[in-house]
Amino acid sequence: MSPNATDSSTILREERKIPNGCTNGWPSMSDSTEKQCWKGQAFLKINEIVALVKHYSLRAYIIFWHELSMNPRVRSSPFSPPPADELVLSKSDVFSTRRRRLFFLSIHLLALAGLYLCVTGQVKLYTVMFAMAWGTMSSIGVTAGAHRLWSHHAYKAKWPLRVLMALSQTVGVQYSVYNWVRDHRLHHKYTDTDADPHNSNRGFFYSHVGWALIMPHPAFESKVNTVDMADMEADWVVMWQYRLYAPLAFLLSYALPTVLPWWLWGEDLLVAHLVAAQLRHVLTLHSTFLINSAAHMWGLRPYDKNINPTENMLVSVATCGDGWHNYHHTFPWDYKNAELLDYKLNLSTLVIDMFSLIGWAYDLKTVPAELVNKRALRTGDGTRKNTGAGDASTTSPPPPPTNVYGWTDNDLPEEDRQMAQIYKKSD
Ligand SMILES: [Zn+2]
Ligand SMILES: [Zn+2]
Repeated sequence: MSPNATDSSTILREERKIPNGCTNGWPSMSDSTEKQCWKGQAFLKINEIVALVKHYSLRAYIIFWHELSMNPRVRSSPFSPPPADELVLSKSDVFSTRRRRLFFLSIHLLALAGLYLCVTGQVKLYTVMFAMAWGTMSSIGVTAGAHRLWSHHAYKAKWPLRVLMALSQTVGVQYSVYNWVRDHRLHHKYTDTDADPHNSNRGFFYSHVGWALIMPHPAFESKVNTVDMADMEADWVVMWQYRLYAPLAFLLSYALPTVLPWWLWGEDLLVAHLVAAQLRHVLTLHSTFLINSAAHMWGLRPYDKNINPTENMLVSVATCGDGWHNYHHTFPWDYKNAELLDYKLNLSTLVIDMFSLIGWAYDLKTVPAELVNKRALRTGDGTRKNTGAGDASTTSPPPPPTNVYGWTDNDLPEEDRQMAQIYKKSD
């Protein structure tokens, strides 16, 4: 037991006015005084556990930063271009399973401590609101930035918006945009096969988080370096974030959410760190993971019944609009990531539309109702509500391939490209 635990117990004992005679063991509950003793003892035990968590959180924190700073994918100096071989993943540096397990264990223990502080009311309301806002910002950086903008080219963005998106995505600590895009394009090209980094045919746990904790399948390793990443390497914002990833992640995901609540409204530094940094990070991490697990298992398949991805409203709420996953895998180049425009369940689309008003987002690609209708009639499970009179019939040609990662993919059917609606065109 750390010395601090005893000190805090003594102080708490005095604050709670626990009667004398309660120090030796667990008293019986024969009268009201004894009941008060029992409650006091329980309170002290819980706070001793909290003191232990505080004591070991520093060690867990060091392990966490060891994991992030030693990320083998970022070996280059922040101030020089990465060496040519750095962007090629090899078996030895794709995953270090031991370090990843330590990393996940440490962040979850710290997040649990943050959750305890929340449920026991030891957090200021402003801190909770701040954590929710910071988490929403990081989700939008992932969904509107790494996902719709960079992975799929569903719209284009001027450099100030790309910088904003890269910074927001960094808050999520889901590795750099470059690495995120590579894994995600692989996910779309080889959906739910062994080459898919989070193949949902291997079960909920594997597709949710298990894939990050064990060695990847050989099929993944054989395909990962075949993904076309030339566009990412040509985007200075992506490569700038790649090189500065570790210090940026430390600043935006951990240092600022710890210091700002303390500075602005006097929150305890440790409380701010456990709630606004650790708990917020773990919750947003799992909300993103749900897209790979829940949204590949539970829900309707109105656009293509032959694939695992589903329409999942709860996941959409948790991810600011990326849970309409059957639609997304059918039309991955639609900037709305969904058929219907409902900002309540698609906050990322609202953000993109708002930035399009000032010209920072442009070439917003979406699928016309006629094309959606034809596709739903041809391959959907019959649950699409707005199916109107389409010209698709059972005699239509076989469905186009769904293994398309986005607008710039050469496998994108010409019919889709010709029929696409493009808002805010640049030319
Ligand atoms: Zn996608
Ligand atoms: Zn998916």
